[in-house]
Amino acid sequence: MQGLMMNRPMRVNDILTFAAEVHGDSEVVSVTVEGGTHRTTYRDIEKRTRKLANALIKLGVTTGDRVATLAWNGYRHLELYYGIAGIGAVCHTINPRLSAEQMIYIVNHAEDKVIFVDLTFVPILNALKDHFPKDLIYVAMTDRAHMPETDIPNLLCYEDLMDAETADFDWPDFDENTACGLCYTSGTTGNPKGALYSHRSTVLHAMMGVISLQTCLRPGKRILPVVPLFHVNAWGLPYAAPLSGASLVFPGAALDGPSVHKLMEDEQVFSAWGVPTVWMGLLGEIKAKGGKPSAFGEVIIGGSAAPRPMIEAFENMDVSVCHAWGMTEMSPIGTVGVLNLEQDALPQDQRIDLKAKQGRRVFGVDLKIVDEDGNRMPHDGEAQGELYVRGNAVVSGYFKNEEASKSSVDAEGWFGTGDVAKIEPSGMLTITDRAKDLIKSGGEWISSIDVENMAMGHEGVANCAVIAIPDPKWDERPLLIVVPAEGAGQDAPSILDHLSKNLAKWQLPDEVVFVDELPLTATGKVSKLTLRQRHNDGTLSA
Ligand code: ADP
Repeated sequence: MQGLMMNRPMRVNDILTFAAEVHGDSEVVSVTVEGGTHRTTYRDIEKRTRKLANALIKLGVTTGDRVATLAWNGYRHLELYYGIAGIGAVCHTINPRLSAEQMIYIVNHAEDKVIFVDLTFVPILNALKDHFPKDLIYVAMTDRAHMPETDIPNLLCYEDLMDAETADFDWPDFDENTACGLCYTSGTTGNPKGALYSHRSTVLHAMMGVISLQTCLRPGKRILPVVPLFHVNAWGLPYAAPLSGASLVFPGAALDGPSVHKLMEDEQVFSAWGVPTVWMGLLGEIKAKGGKPSAFGEVIIGGSAAPRPMIEAFENMDVSVCHAWGMTEMSPIGTVGVLNLEQDALPQDQRIDLKAKQGRRVFGVDLKIVDEDGNRMPHDGEAQGELYVRGNAVVSGYFKNEEASKSSVDAEGWFGTGDVAKIEPSGMLTITDRAKDLIKSGGEWISSIDVENMAMGHEGVANCAVIAIPDPKWDERPLLIVVPAEGAGQDAPSILDHLSKNLAKWQLPDEVVFVDELPLTATGKVSKLTLRQRHNDGTLSA
């Protein structure tokens, strides 16, 4: 028997309509590329989004069309999220840090109809325009006074488009499984693959976020997404924040430690979200200034493993760390490191040990680990296997890519994450490594994350990465690559001595290489692929 309830479709624009009414005064603050700070509210954004919908329709955008953005975190980018999705089109966020080749592939594969671009990235489009579809429409996300000099023909001006429209627009109804967003994974091997989010999955994901992260996702709290809107929808914040009434503070292009510190102080940011590499800069500035931004109470760290010493540094200054795990294909939230009351009452050292794990699943995400033959392994905190997921906001395949779609799910319909993990009976997840980053030495596995975590605990190490290098006797051996801390020398014996306190002899790197900086991926994570390529013949030079 079926229930007798209304079957209203879930649409992302209902989030903004709700926010405009219920949390209408909550602010959206943006550092702009034109200079200065822009302030608005969810009420005004919703109104402008309806103007934008009218403008998009005039440009010929219809249901299912892909409309691309190449932009920093800012209010116009947020408007595009809703204006595009609200008319049934698909907001395709492009990562400006991708290579030219990948960007050309993505724009053509997505068959984008319009591309909206921040001033910073106009030169990129100008250089690539001959490789893009001939009828692609270009719009600069600025006002008339700041329109750039460029060879891009017929470059339109965002604010001109808006000025020509009224806010007289009713969001159309459509099936909740209609696509609303498209995000390509950075694709460390092969071409990038597109995760195509639906209105339903996105609304559910926003609700999953709000119920899981109640410390910051609530009215009166101010959140700084350092994680970009072009990286998996800034982990869902453009939806979860308005849904909850929390304010958003967008940093624009100013992502260095001093700028982030100042913005957080000026705007009284409570919670900041981003990958570990961005927090190194902020921690450095906090040290230099002798204090944290005054309202700073929480940091959400995800995208790659948060090193234990980083967690310790934040917790010691009363900034609560929430270590989260997920991926583009999961919209992205999978697990969050929110401790229960009992765990939170543990001594600091034990709390930090728990926070160094990746947390527990959010509602709407199921996890399983399997052995090499696909058999399920127990969630006993000991067994390690490949992590598979399923859920309401997990991809069932990739956009226009049958081959990758087929190989991404198992016979039971679960998605293979490519991560190796263990799960405790309480649901606590520990990511051992990405399968491709594990080091196989003499038939035994070494977790690069474990070794990195320990090395980061040495005072002479500012940042580090551990990769496998080929070895004739053991197959692979770990190589430790270190960025020395300021003023520290290159003291390999001392670092190895420190590691030997916690690692077995066979797990110890044979060599340490010192470098000035580590290469980063387009999403700001340490690029182990680049490091492996540098050292793939066993060479140890930086
Ligand atoms: P990409 O960087 O390849 O575009 P994602 O941003 O979706 O893709 O990255 C997802 C991957 O990042 C996960 O499969 C996992 O390997 C890694 N990851 C994300 N969060 C964490 C975390 N907290 N700890 C360890 N690894 C993580």
